[in-house]
Amino acid sequence: MSAAKQNGSLLKVEDLRVYFGKRRAPVRAVDGVSFSIQPGESVGLVGESGCGKTTLGRAIMRLVDVHSGRIDFAGKDVAPLNNRELQAYRKRVQMIFQDPYGSLNARMSVGNAIQEVMQVHRMGGRAERRKRAQDLFHAVGLDPGYMDRYPHEFSGGQRQRIGIARALAVDPQLIIADEPVSALDVSVQVQILNLMKDLQREMNLAYLFVAHDLAVVRYICDRILVMYLGKIVESGTPDEILTRPTHPYTQALLSAVPDVDKGLKSRTQGSDRIILKGDVPSPTRLIPGCPFHPRCPIAKDRCRSEVPELREIRSGQWSACHFAE
Ligand code: SF4
Repeated sequence: MSAAKQNGSLLKVEDLRVYFGKRRAPVRAVDGVSFSIQPGESVGLVGESGCGKTTLGRAIMRLVDVHSGRIDFAGKDVAPLNNRELQAYRKRVQMIFQDPYGSLNARMSVGNAIQEVMQVHRMGGRAERRKRAQDLFHAVGLDPGYMDRYPHEFSGGQRQRIGIARALAVDPQLIIADEPVSALDVSVQVQILNLMKDLQREMNLAYLFVAHDLAVVRYICDRILVMYLGKIVESGTPDEILTRPTHPYTQALLSAVPDVDKGLKSRTQGSDRIILKGDVPSPTRLIPGCPFHPRCPIAKDRCRSEVPELREIRSGQWSACHFAE
């Protein structure tokens, strides 16, 4: 069963599992995830820290080993790709990180960092690459005159713009953005999200936008996947997820999103806030029944023994809760 649109997918992930550690008691970081992304579509992946969303992004990039399942990009299985094919794949699928500073070489000018990625993928000559880097600087709202400066000479928001320019340098079709704005001030977050939206429209980019904050993904995404303990527990459009969430975990995440009418107060003090009991259970231990039942405020006997299937509750909205209706 899948929560995904399938036809004409750019990316199709099927029953993907990524396990780490001991064979007898592995950490089930990603545990049977299926979804797809269409060309030009923006899909948000949300959940608490440690739910497996970053590992899922890294598995799609083939940066971690997959236990089982399948990842197709443009109709082709990425598992058997050799080094040369993998390089071509990574030209089409780029990643943006939470901390672009960590992914930039402190001793290389930012202009050279952008040109370097084009050189790795054998794009154009030196003059062509420099011209393209200038155009990209311009496209992300930076003065191309700053290209010879070093990463430490830029603010966090500017460095994220440089990270975006570098990802765009090789003309990708899909960008996996891993918490790209969570380290930034709110006003800068909005600027970066607006930039990403504009670039998406202009270049028909698809995004897998990984974040812990529903408020961020609702701003940029066409569809939202909610992840808990390595599994997708709900998916739907931002409108459905935000106005009619059917899974108690989504409802708890949503209750922590600030209400613009009430201000940030509701994030900490609002009477509607759902406080989840306990910690996220260990991903090494298989829990009988619904994986969310130890923390679920409405768990019933059935939840402790029967695993809820991810099923379509209403057109386009899927939920893994026995009582989603
Ligand atoms: Fe809660 Fe039960 Fe639904 Fe799981 S199946 S989310 S425990 S009500």
